Amino acid sequence: SAGGTNGTAAAPAAIAGGQRAPADVQPAKKLVVGLSLDTLLEERWKKDRDLFKAAVEKLGAEVDVQAANGDDAKQIAQAENMISRHVDVLVVVPHDAEASAAIVAKAHRAGIRVISYDRLILNADVDLYVSFDNEKVGALAAQAIVAQAPRGNFVLIEGADTDNNAQMFKRGQMSVLQPLVDRGDIQIVYDRFTKEWKPAEALANMRAALQANGGAVDAVLAANDGTAGGVVSALAERGLAGKIPVSGMDAELAAAQRIVEGTQTMTVYKPIRKLAETAAELAVRMAKGEQVSTDRTVFNKKIDVPAILLEPIAVNRSNIDATIIADGFHSREDVYRHA
Ligand code: BGC
Repeated sequence: SAGGTNGTAAAPAAIAGGQRAPADVQPAKKLVVGLSLDTLLEERWKKDRDLFKAAVEKLGAEVDVQAANGDDAKQIAQAENMISRHVDVLVVVPHDAEASAAIVAKAHRAGIRVISYDRLILNADVDLYVSFDNEKVGALAAQAIVAQAPRGNFVLIEGADTDNNAQMFKRGQMSVLQPLVDRGDIQIVYDRFTKEWKPAEALANMRAALQANGGAVDAVLAANDGTAGGVVSALAERGLAGKIPVSGMDAELAAAQRIVEGTQTMTVYKPIRKLAETAAELAVRMAKGEQVSTDRTVFNKKIDVPAILLEPIAVNRSNIDATIIADGFHSREDVYRHA
């Protein structure tokens, strides 16, 4: 049998007729970690899924993955389904920071703890938050852009306003930009969130920003590499690609290639392997019923959530080899493919 029969020779795995076997004769059941993703449409989340799954399996547990493709009702229904099939712990990348609070409430009613992965669930009794220092992500991007464009007209193409990370990235950016605005060195001439983080929305918004300013834009902060792709396309339409600095985030392959080509100034590399492995280890410990403690917390408008925040890394043309390539995040061959 699959082991775990506690020394009872030839114990039945289950008693026929749907009755539960007495606890002492049940076969050992693998712990199950539920992973509820907002989406798998962006490159990074596929990596998160694969690395997380591998890490959990290495620890002897199983993963049940569901992706909601940006649909809140679907994400909640998928989570409910995992809860009723009794996962032992739930790891959630929320599509909407507030709507996903319902998932935490439902999980807790079933005695299941919830880890907020990368994005924070707001207004809920989240058990653990594992992410990067997201304000620092924004600050790193702004510092890199300001180093290239210390004065002039700045455009902010932010993330999805339903994602708490987008708010934190912006807060981090403004910690760098506001003093320069106050000094009169820079002007923020356009500032928009990007619906659903969609590159096509970012492209449309960047066109509008250029239009509104007669093309007089000196720098762009794009919240991630997907939106940076839209921004660079809009700049290319006016012959401005590579002429003004553009930031990004995620170290996506396309962005790494743009950095090498010179159309994107930088990206922020967030070592996803570390995030996935940290979350996997803590999820399995929680699934086993262990207590986990952290040395910091993040307030989510309801409680101080125990948090682990990993360090992001600014990447530009000069350290791309020493960071994302050295880390095996992308191969050198892929990054320099068009160079
Ligand atoms: C993540 C980013 C990602 C974005 C869009 C954010 O919450 O932190 O890495 O690019 O969502 O999926």
